[in-house]
Formats: sequence, C-alpha cells, structure tokens
Amino acid sequence: MWCFSLIVFFVTCSQFLAQEEDRKEIFLGGIFTESSDLDDSVLTDEEAFNFAIDIANREYTDVKFTAVIEESDARSNGPFDSRLKSCSLVNQQALVIFGPKNEEEIDIVQSICDYKDLAHVITRWVYNSADYRSVINFYPHSAYLTSAYFSVLMLWEWKSFTVFYEDDESILRLADLLNLAKNEGIIVTVKQLYEGLNETPVYRTTLKEAVRSGEKNFIIDCKIENLEEVLIQAQQVGLMTSDYNFFITNLDLQTIDLEPFQYSEANITGLRILDPLNEMFHVKAGAILRQKPNFNLMKMRTETALLIDAVSVITQVINRKLSIKDMEMVDITCNSPKSSRHGYTIANHVKTSKYDEMTGRIEFDGNGFRSNFNLDIIELTQEGISKIGTWNMSKGLVMLSHKVEDVVEDPFSLRNKTFKVITCLTDPYCMLKETSIQLFGNDRFEGFAIDLIHELSLMEGFNYTFILREDKQNGDKNQSTGEWSGMIGDVIDGVADLAIADLTITAGREEAVDFTSPFMNLGISILAQKPGTAPPSFFSFADPFALDTWIMIALAYAVVSVSFFILSRICPDEWTNPYPCVEEPEFLINQFSLSNSFWYAVGSLMQQGTELAPIGVPTRMVAGMWWFLILIMVSSYTASLAAFLANENTITLFTDVDTLVENYQEKGIRMGAKAKGATEGFFRGKDREVYKTIAKYMEEHREDMVGDNKDGVKLAKTENYAFFMESISIEYETQRHCELQQYGGLLDDKGYGIAMRKNSTYRKTLSTAILKMQSSGQLDKLKRTWWEEKRGGGQCVGGGDDETPALDVRNVEGVFYVTIGGTICAIFLVLLEFFASLLKLKKKYKIPIREALNNEKKAFIDFSSNVKPAPKAKSKSGSKSSGESGKTNNNTGAPTYGFIPTITKDTLDE
Ligand code: GLU
Repeated sequence: MWCFSLIVFFVTCSQFLAQEEDRKEIFLGGIFTESSDLDDSVLTDEEAFNFAIDIANREYTDVKFTAVIEESDARSNGPFDSRLKSCSLVNQQALVIFGPKNEEEIDIVQSICDYKDLAHVITRWVYNSADYRSVINFYPHSAYLTSAYFSVLMLWEWKSFTVFYEDDESILRLADLLNLAKNEGIIVTVKQLYEGLNETPVYRTTLKEAVRSGEKNFIIDCKIENLEEVLIQAQQVGLMTSDYNFFITNLDLQTIDLEPFQYSEANITGLRILDPLNEMFHVKAGAILRQKPNFNLMKMRTETALLIDAVSVITQVINRKLSIKDMEMVDITCNSPKSSRHGYTIANHVKTSKYDEMTGRIEFDGNGFRSNFNLDIIELTQEGISKIGTWNMSKGLVMLSHKVEDVVEDPFSLRNKTFKVITCLTDPYCMLKETSIQLFGNDRFEGFAIDLIHELSLMEGFNYTFILREDKQNGDKNQSTGEWSGMIGDVIDGVADLAIADLTITAGREEAVDFTSPFMNLGISILAQKPGTAPPSFFSFADPFALDTWIMIALAYAVVSVSFFILSRICPDEWTNPYPCVEEPEFLINQFSLSNSFWYAVGSLMQQGTELAPIGVPTRMVAGMWWFLILIMVSSYTASLAAFLANENTITLFTDVDTLVENYQEKGIRMGAKAKGATEGFFRGKDREVYKTIAKYMEEHREDMVGDNKDGVKLAKTENYAFFMESISIEYETQRHCELQQYGGLLDDKGYGIAMRKNSTYRKTLSTAILKMQSSGQLDKLKRTWWEEKRGGGQCVGGGDDETPALDVRNVEGVFYVTIGGTICAIFLVLLEFFASLLKLKKKYKIPIREALNNEKKAFIDFSSNVKPAPKAKSKSGSKSSGESGKTNNNTGAPTYGFIPTITKDTLDE
C-alpha cells in the first residue's frame, strides 16, 4: 500500500514537472507608470497586469505567460526614453506590449510594434488609433462615446450648456459632441477649468463665472484624479443645488468619494462601462481579492479593468488561436531586421472575435474600434450611485422605469456558506450544556464563543458546525518541523475553516493563519490565592496603644496614686472625725492610706469607682485631672479597639511578577501556565531577566505546567502556586473562586481572534462584523452574560469578603489570660496574707499557729455565716470566750480609744 502511494506520488510529481517543462513561455511586455499612490485599496496597473497573467497561467496548461515590465515616469521623458523602453521589451522577446498611458509615448511604442510585428495593446482614450494594424485599443472608441453623450443630452432637452474642460485632450474628446450640439441649435459655452500655476488647482474663478452667467447645465470633462476637487469647489461657489445639472464624461465617476455631494440635490449624472453586477467582474475581482485582500472593488478604474480584460483576451487568443506548439519564436532585437510575425495575427484574431469580460461585451468594428459596448447611465442620489438607464449602439438610450441601487454584491459574501468551526471546552468560551436531555450537534454547546459565532452567522448569513478539539491545545509551533499543533494546525490542515476559543493572536500564529480583528483584549497576569492571615497576637487588645503609651499610663497611675497619698496627708480637710457624734475626737483619720490611694486611682481608671471620695480641694483637683486623662484615654482606646481587633495581619508572599521571582524559592512557591499556550510562548526567548527565570522554571518543571486553565486554577486554589494566566480568564475565575486573586498588572497587551486559513476572503467580512458588534455594545453584553451572570458569575463581588469579620476568641484571648493571671496572683497574695496573719496572731496573741489555723478553717467552712470570732490573747485561765467585751481588743489591732462595742455573731445576726 505504502509503495503504491509512493509510486503514485512520484508519477504525479514527475508528470507535473514534465508539464511545466513542456509549457511554452510567452513574454508579455508592459510599460506602466510608476504609482505614487500608496493607498492599498487601489489596484495599480502593474499589479493588475501581474494578477491577470497569474489568472491566465492557472487556466492554461500549454503556455506559460511571463510578465516583462518597464516603468515610466508620470511625465513623459520624450521619444528617446519611450524607444529605449520599447526596445528593452522587444529584446526580452515580448510578443505583445501593453501600455504606456502617456499619449506622447504611445506613438513611438506603436511604431516599433508595427515595425517588429508585435501586438500593441492600449487601454486608454485616444482620438485615432486605427493607423497601425498591430494596435488593439480596448477603450470604447471616441465616436461611439460621443454618440452616447449626445443621446443623454437629447434626453434632457438642454437648450444650452457650459462645458468645463481641463486640457487639450479633453476639448478634443468633446469636439464632436460640441459640433453635434451646435447643429441641434443648442447654445454651448466652453470654459477651461484650470487657472493659475498653484500647486492646488483653483477652479473657483471659472466656476464663479458660470454662476454669474446664469447657466444651469454643465458638462465636466477632466481627469478622475481632479474631479473630486472640481466638485468640491463647485459646491463652495454654490453650484451644488437642485437648480444645477452636471454631466460627467469620465467613465470613473463611481470610483470617487461622492458622499459630500449626495445630499446636495444637484443633479450629477455620468456614464460607466464597468457594471458592478457583471458576473465576470465578480469572478476576476474575487481572484484579485485573494491576492490583495485590502483592494476596494468600488475603486476599480475603467482603464485598470480594461487592462485585465486585455490580458485575458490576448492570452485566450494566444492559447486558442495560435498553434503554440508549432509557433516559431524568432529571436528578435530592436536593431535587427527580424520581426515576430505574430503581432498582426494576434491583433486580427482579437478584432474578429467577441469576448465577455469585466467591461462587458468586447467586440471590434470593421475599423478595429471597440464597439457594441454597453454603458450604464448613473446618477448620484441620496443613497449613493443609482443606475437610471443603459446605452448601447444598437438600442441607443434606454431609461429604466425604476432606479437600480448600486449594490455591489460582495463576491466573498458568507451568505449560505457553511463553516466547520473548531473549538475546545474552555470556560466560558465553550462549555457543555448542563441538561438531562441528550443533545446533538451544535446544541450540545454553550458559551461566549458559541454565542459570538451565532451572532456573526445571523449578521452574515452563514451556517456553521462546531467540531471539538479534545486536547484543548490552541496551537504551538514545533520548532524543529515547523508544524503547528492544536486548533491552529487544524485550520491549516483544513480540518476546520474557523477556530474560536481563548485563541490568542500572536506574531507567530499570524504568520501561519489569518485572524479577525480581536474580539477581546487582555494581557498575561498572575492568579494565586489571596494573602493568608497571621494569627492575632496574644496581647492584641493592647494594640490600640503603643507600648510607650501604656508605660505612660502606668507611670501616670503610680504618680497620681502617690500624689493622692502625699497630698491627702498634707491637706487638713482629708483628716476627718471618725465619730461625727463626738465633737472633739481624740484622733482624726485619713482615708487615703497608700493602698487606698492606689485603689482609688485604679477604681477610676477602670471606671468602676470606689467608696473613697476626696474631700480637700487639692485632692479633688488631682482626682479631676486624673479622670480627665482617663476620659481621653479610655475613649481613644474604645474607639480604636474594635478596629484593631478586627484587623487581620496579612501574609503577602509576593505582589507582582518581580517579587514572585525574587521570593519563589525562599517561600516555596511553584509557578506554571497552560502548556504550549500563548502564555508559555510569551516567556520563551525574552531578554528580561525575570522572564528568563520564569521560562527556565517552566522548562525544568514540566510537572507544574497544566493541560488547561481549570487544572491551573485548581492548583492555585489548593497549593502555594502562582498560575500565569490571561487577564480575561483571571477575571472569570476570580468571579467564581473568592479565595483567588490577580497579582500585579498585565505583562503584555494582546487579543483573542477567530483564526482561519491564510488569505481567507472572509476575514474582512468577519472582522467588520466583529467591529460592528463591538461598537453596538453586543460584545460587551455577551461578555457580561458569560462572566458575571451565568455559571456562578458575580459570586465574589461585594460578598461576605467586604464585611467586617466577627471577632473570634483569638482576637481577645489576651484579656482572658490577664484576668486569669490577676486572679491567680490574688490567690497567691491571699495565701501570703493569710500565713502572714497567722504569724502575726502567734506573735501578738501567742496563739499557736496550728490552733489559729484550725479557727480560721472552721470559720472558712462555716459558709452560713459571714462572722468569725476575733482573735484574743490567750488568758491564763484558758477562757475562750469570744463574745465578751474587752477594752483593749479589736481585731484590727487598732489602739483602744473610748468605747468600741464588740461586734459579736449574735448582734450581727440580729
Ligand atoms: N490563550 C492561550 C492560547 O491561545 C491559552 C491560554 C494561555 O496560554 O494562557 O494559547
């Protein structure tokens, strides 16, 4: 099987090569004016010539036409130069010479062709071109054109008109028409348009004269390059109103921008030979558009179309009418007496046959003039150019009962075409519908790309079938074989006509396929988990104040307490009578002992108060100041406490690509992207050190590269992983996974487009449709639907994230520990005090420690009473009465003064 295929292949190849060798090479010469027009939408003569030869070569197998071209300046360089160019073409064995444009040069070329028996093809207006047998002029003959012009004038029944002519050639062109008009008694005024030697021609003077003359009908004859300016200046002088009628003799009226005059209501009429509805026009224009996609069909000039027609007719004649195999090619030069002996034959065949080409019927009369052609009568209306009638030699002028709008059907219209569209299951561009019903075909899918193709199909009228690329590979170039994988490869191989997904337009891919205008703009960025939070500090309740503030508060507390103690001892008012009933007490007491002073200060600090109250003015003043300080401090503390407790300490591992590369090793961060995607491709071969590091990492850690975005997102969610992703996809994921966020800005700027085979004719149509969707807001709406609304969109916008988190116990645990710590301290202190008091009892009352301990234990265990016997010195009789009165005894050990009733358990119970 293999062997058979190989044999077939070699036989086919060798047949093809043999055929190529067998093809007879015929040289077609052209003398064309160098084009200064940089407008890519216009076809130059040279381009048209080459394209037409290309078309012919694809059609014929016996002969191979080769273009030999000489370029001439826009201005004639005289007969010598023309002779040199013609001779150069003759010496290169050109069988036919096309051109030149310049009338002065035409004569020289014509005479050389005649002398050497070469066919000479002209495609422009010349007054008389029948003198030489070898000349074939495809331009409608002057006499027939005049006849057409005159028919139009007769139809309008003009009684007078003014002719604006540009140069000698134009007055020559109109000479016959003027004679005919005069014979009909029409008053004719003739005015030359161009005046002055300025760079910009000033036609206004002539045009103003015309306004003043009161004339309403005008014939304009000028080069098409100047026509727009003439009309603009006519508008400036007020000639573009419904009162005025213009008849344009140039056959290219439809190729200039007439929009400024569309609504002027002036009657502008002209003729054209190039019918945009002609089938041949579409066929040829289609072939040209394949090679020059930016070419604007509407700007196709008559002379360019005639050149393409001429090449087509000449190549047909050479191929069909001459026996090519036996054709004897004589080696001729300009100076030798030898001649080709084919020129007249070719010219004869052309002039005696009929052809249907872009400019319609091509036929020559007995004199060798192009005749029997059709002309359209066209008129400028508010909708643009409309065809209002036709003219031909046999039927004359036939006006249409209705205007035919000049709608040029695009030969590459997508209407009724069916495209195979390849895509892959990447959210949200293409996803399987979530339904329990079994679906088939296109119905199985939904998503942004699916909707986009659907909208485009509605706009352009095409059909489509989706094909799924299971491995989700968008397309990568194999550096050794140069072959493309993924969807790009599928488009190149013809598996699909279009590819759509998150397909990035890259320079490399642009070389292999064509892309539409981008339908989305984006750049590479990083997707990773939001920064983690550090556990709150143990003493976070202390955070509202800095350490020195706390120290100052503690100091202030100590100073104020001591001040209280000292001031109250000095202040006489603070020494009070303990028994107000006793007028002259034996002693006075002061409530602010050192410990009470501290207690008082702490009571106010904690805003709890004590039963102590300063009496003297100085002590009250100190208390007032202390309260004021507390007021401010406590208010400030309370105000900021909640915020400080709620504030989470974030742990940020990196913020952008630079910090990621700086820290990834130290912090153990893994990095990755979609394998073989545009993002991986972006890092490859970059000069920037940071990108080089990332590219190296990606190369060395293939395990961190993922097959599709979903896997990358999963890794980013669960691991310490930074996923390089395209911003628009990051936006999609962060709407759905609130724990993820984008880090840093965009590393580049690019877009997604629809891919198709190189030089696809439908690129422009699809791009235009996408741009229309963009400007109408349809694309934006689609994006909002799939990003923010469907499939869980909008989850992380304004959600719980923005709310202040509830304080959990970790935020306030320090307070609990302080309280517990304080309580434990108190327990130690009480124990200490207890044992100290036992020692004191032993010392003072000679009570043995064991006994004192037992007494205390009894009192402690008796939970029903809050009274316990006061300690007393042990009497020798061993009396243990605790209820009896004693003068010198009280349990505080205070000095005995006056009568102090002894409190007993019974009195208290009462
Ligand atoms: N849009 C990329 C591409 O066309 C795929 C995703 C990526 O590389 O981040 O290859």
